[in-house]
Amino acid sequence: MCGIVGYIGNKEAYPILIKGLQRMEYRGYDSAGVALLQSKEIKVFKCSGKVADLEAHCQGKDISGKSGIAHTRWATHGEPTDVNAHPHFSSDRKIALIHNGIIENHIALRQALIKEGYMFESETDTEVLIHLIEDIHKKENIDLVESVRLALTQVVGTYGIIVLSVDDPNTLIVARKGSPVIIGFGKDEYYVASDASALVEYTKKVVYLNDEEIAVLSKGNDLVVKNIHNETVPHSIQKLQMTLSQIEKGGYEHFMLKEIYEQPTSIAESMRGRLNLKKEIVALGGITEYEDKLLSARRFIIVACGTSYHAGLVAEHLFEDLVRIPVEVEYASEFRYRNPIIYEDDVVIAISQSGETADTLAAVELAKKKGALVLGICNVVGSSIARATHAGSYTHAGFEIGVASTKAFTSQVTVLTLMALSLAMRKEKIQRKQYTQMIAALEDLPNKVKYVLDSVNATVQEVAIYMKDFSNVLYLGRNYNYPVALEGALKLKEISYIHAEGYPAAEMKHGPIALIDENMPVVVIATKKGTYKKIVSNIEEVKARKGKIISIVTEGDVDVKNLSDFVIEIPETEEMLVPIIASIPLQLLAYYVAVMCGKNVDKPRNLAKSVTVE
Ligand code: GLU
Repeated sequence: MCGIVGYIGNKEAYPILIKGLQRMEYRGYDSAGVALLQSKEIKVFKCSGKVADLEAHCQGKDISGKSGIAHTRWATHGEPTDVNAHPHFSSDRKIALIHNGIIENHIALRQALIKEGYMFESETDTEVLIHLIEDIHKKENIDLVESVRLALTQVVGTYGIIVLSVDDPNTLIVARKGSPVIIGFGKDEYYVASDASALVEYTKKVVYLNDEEIAVLSKGNDLVVKNIHNETVPHSIQKLQMTLSQIEKGGYEHFMLKEIYEQPTSIAESMRGRLNLKKEIVALGGITEYEDKLLSARRFIIVACGTSYHAGLVAEHLFEDLVRIPVEVEYASEFRYRNPIIYEDDVVIAISQSGETADTLAAVELAKKKGALVLGICNVVGSSIARATHAGSYTHAGFEIGVASTKAFTSQVTVLTLMALSLAMRKEKIQRKQYTQMIAALEDLPNKVKYVLDSVNATVQEVAIYMKDFSNVLYLGRNYNYPVALEGALKLKEISYIHAEGYPAAEMKHGPIALIDENMPVVVIATKKGTYKKIVSNIEEVKARKGKIISIVTEGDVDVKNLSDFVIEIPETEEMLVPIIASIPLQLLAYYVAVMCGKNVDKPRNLAKSVTVE
């Protein structure tokens, strides 16, 4: 959930560490800290607040040092206070540690360490780790790398850690289980971070650490990687595909707005090399090898969290409509703990932007154990889920930094549409005509998305001015547009903190209709085709109770327009592609409302981008 960064080499570490934290601040941003190695001591500066607050805190202090570690926190145990911020020290202040993850058995470990005489400064679970390492190191006179390894064998939970020690000034010790860690190589120097954004401007040569691996980064020496059983393991150096411009704002006020506007390109990238209009081919290279297994699957189970879960709900419609295979969509966090029935001929599809979502990763492991084929739909290349699954397809949406997901969602739906189409064709469940129409519509999708971005902005801003003063908003949709309603509501609450609920329009009369009065704006996705006529009746029901209607309609619509207080028009397309197009104005709406409410759009309170803790 947080970001960890480390440097060891011949340059000044502080600017590299701070820049790394800034790049990864989207991962967690309630406190930040840095530890720098200076001749015979480690200096730690830390405080609650953002990386900018840490920088202000460090002003005028001695921040020299050629190695160091830094952390931006998303608190799980203990409030975001100065003391709870990382790095944490050993009792003699000779070792410092930063940690991303959760130590689940921290209470038992803490009690045992207190009995041994250790004093705890913070309320974090993390602090047990440093004292445990210290205890082993001192008591048994074991070297630090081995002490780290032995300490980790006693830990239940997840970790991405970096350890810095006065006694071994040329070395950083790094380890991971469940939390991502990437190591970058420079000339006689190493970089470490939770994700590539912190490294990309220094190096493209990287190694992704695997679970239960410990790496020893010694200045001027080759990288050594061991597993938790103390066996040396090989590592392969990979080339980063990311560029610096991908992770900068490029003139936009916020990353979220930039990412919304990138969607014509990101959607095209998701389809690149996979869709051929002339040859009428849809093919996802990553899953070709498993296509027979997919076609004979008893059932697809989609596991995901948050926005990815909503992409999964769209896919449920797509797969059932096109491929005629039953689909279940599950919150990964629920799925993993309820002893689910998974057959060997089930196919489990895990969807995660970061590819690091802890609950989804755990669901993947569970499904693998039960013998199912597991596919991953991830955005981040080389991420844990991408590596843990048997096969899969990357969304190729490009780096997403805004905490509220936008382009990753539309790319997930795009890739899932391609997957459904290619399987439908192979299974002969789709007529050639519909297949051809869908390919043409997909080919035209980036243009349509661009058209929406160019045409709806002024209306959306008008709606935002109206909506910003309400405390509750209802989002309604049916069929393919029901997940769109859920996603629209999620976007609004994530970044504006206005309470919003997505609901299937017809279900409203079984409860939420009680909430409707003149103070309840209702956003209805009421595009032509499918259940259009039915949703017109649902709108009438809201209207009859004085609810205010904001509708997303197909261009040229008359009926819904006449019933609406505000109308946002989107161009006509295949019904199956409406979720992508209809999501765009809802993303913009959430964005403008949040900006007008003065909220921090890219870093909304209490949230973090990549949820690497349970
Ligand atoms: N569990 C640790 C804490 O609360 C680390 C949280 C994080 O990953 O940011 O301090």
